[in-house]
Amino acid sequence: MTDYISTLDRQGLAQSLWAATAVAAPDCPPLEGHVSTDIAVIGAGFAGLSTALHLAEKGVSVTVLEAAEPGFGASGRNGGQVINGLKDGLDLVGKFGAAKAEQMQAFAARTADTVFDLVQRHGIDCDAGRSGWIQAAHSNRNAQDLLRKVEERAAQGANVTYLNGEETAEATGCDWYRGAFLDRECGTLQPLSYARGLAVAAQKAGATVHGQSPVLSLARVDGKWRVETPGGSVTADKIVLCTNGYSSLTDAAKSVERVVLPFFSYQIATAPLSDNLLKTLPAQGLGVSETRRVLSYSRIDAQGRFLMGARGRMDGELDESGFSFARRRLQELFPRLASQAIEFGWNGRVAITLDHLPRLVEPAPGLHAALGWNGRGVAMTSAMGPVMADWLTGTRAEELPMPVTKAKPIPFHSLRVPASRAMAYWYKLQDERERAAD
Ligand SMILES: Cc1cc2nc3c(=O)[nH]c(=O)nc-3n(C[C@H](O)[C@H](O)[C@H](O)COP(=O)(O)OP(=O)(O)OC[C@H]3O[C@@H](n4cnc5c(N)ncnc54)[C@H](O)[C@@H]3O)c2cc1C
Repeated sequence: MTDYISTLDRQGLAQSLWAATAVAAPDCPPLEGHVSTDIAVIGAGFAGLSTALHLAEKGVSVTVLEAAEPGFGASGRNGGQVINGLKDGLDLVGKFGAAKAEQMQAFAARTADTVFDLVQRHGIDCDAGRSGWIQAAHSNRNAQDLLRKVEERAAQGANVTYLNGEETAEATGCDWYRGAFLDRECGTLQPLSYARGLAVAAQKAGATVHGQSPVLSLARVDGKWRVETPGGSVTADKIVLCTNGYSSLTDAAKSVERVVLPFFSYQIATAPLSDNLLKTLPAQGLGVSETRRVLSYSRIDAQGRFLMGARGRMDGELDESGFSFARRRLQELFPRLASQAIEFGWNGRVAITLDHLPRLVEPAPGLHAALGWNGRGVAMTSAMGPVMADWLTGTRAEELPMPVTKAKPIPFHSLRVPASRAMAYWYKLQDERERAAD
């Protein structure tokens, strides 16, 4: 039988810390034969699963089709940092007007709540901890920007604090940064366990979740949507594409594939550390990221391993050169960990948009999609589930807290690999220039 998933994509999850430490996978048998459903969701990451769960809770009949297993994509491989808010520096007022911009910021500022509520409500066993999220500044100028962000968010009622250089060093265990933004409502979790828990919650609510069921084609037939998998077919009133950075697995998500630029992010994890070392590192349940454009992110897992994530090779190869950047960052930021054994190394596909905003699109009537989380999707995808469920059950697009936009392809998409390399190089120069100006 044809395997629609590349060996590299399979290895990316199989080699991960999360696959080694997750709760058992739920039973999600492949689709066989023909079924009819109200809504078919394609892709069982957090976006697809949260959408399916919230649709099922509304009494809608929903069938999820996943090429591999729930959490197979970025959702089962990420850093597990549950982060509120959109990326910084977006011109929301210019693009959408003041009222919509305010609504979007307010929605994004509380997305972590949805994750921790879901974990609690459905008893999801995923090492969820809520010690906060730190975004640390790589230069004095960026520290000033973070101070302004804290003032703005605090004025809107957010539980955020500014940390000066010394406080940042204490909280992160790293004295390289100039200051930091701390959002106390954020945290960390075991992402593959969370994805599996969401799949179980969706099943319990009445959704059907089929694994090993790549959608090969979708077409409009007699006023309905019809999708084909190797073992069967589904007829649905509506389709939701939640394939994000994995949209190119088959031709089925062609209509949104070029709306995002996929690239790989790599992570490494040490062996569990001694208590003495752990005392000098971020608390468990605290996520740490930074303001560099070519950013790295770190945290401690439930067994006391230190995780460091960063960009890597664009071809997805899981060799030493893919991990060397994450290792260099570990040495640069945490020199005392440089000699620690690395127990795990893995990668996954992130999907970015040129304006760093997620996309809710409807490329054809009844064909919806949510994607483009720009590497910050754990909380946003989870919170988008109820939004998608509302949209699919009749809420008008204008009433949603995030805008529905056109499914515009990124120009020159076929040049994405050299373009991403050039972009990474340009970002690196800007990061270095800002640091050098201190
Ligand atoms: C290494 C890494 C680290 C990250 N760290 C963080 C972090 O710490 N915090 C944070 O907020 N975000 C992080 N992210 C981003 C976050 O993981 C993603 O934004 C989020 O998981 C996207 O979820 P999703 O459901 O949209 O897509 P995915 O989880 O990628 O799911 C897409 C699914 O679609 C399936 N699929 C594709 N085509 C088909 C088809 N034809 N038929 C059936 N199924 C199909 C795939 O198999 C896949 O399971 C990270 C991402 C990566 C890769």
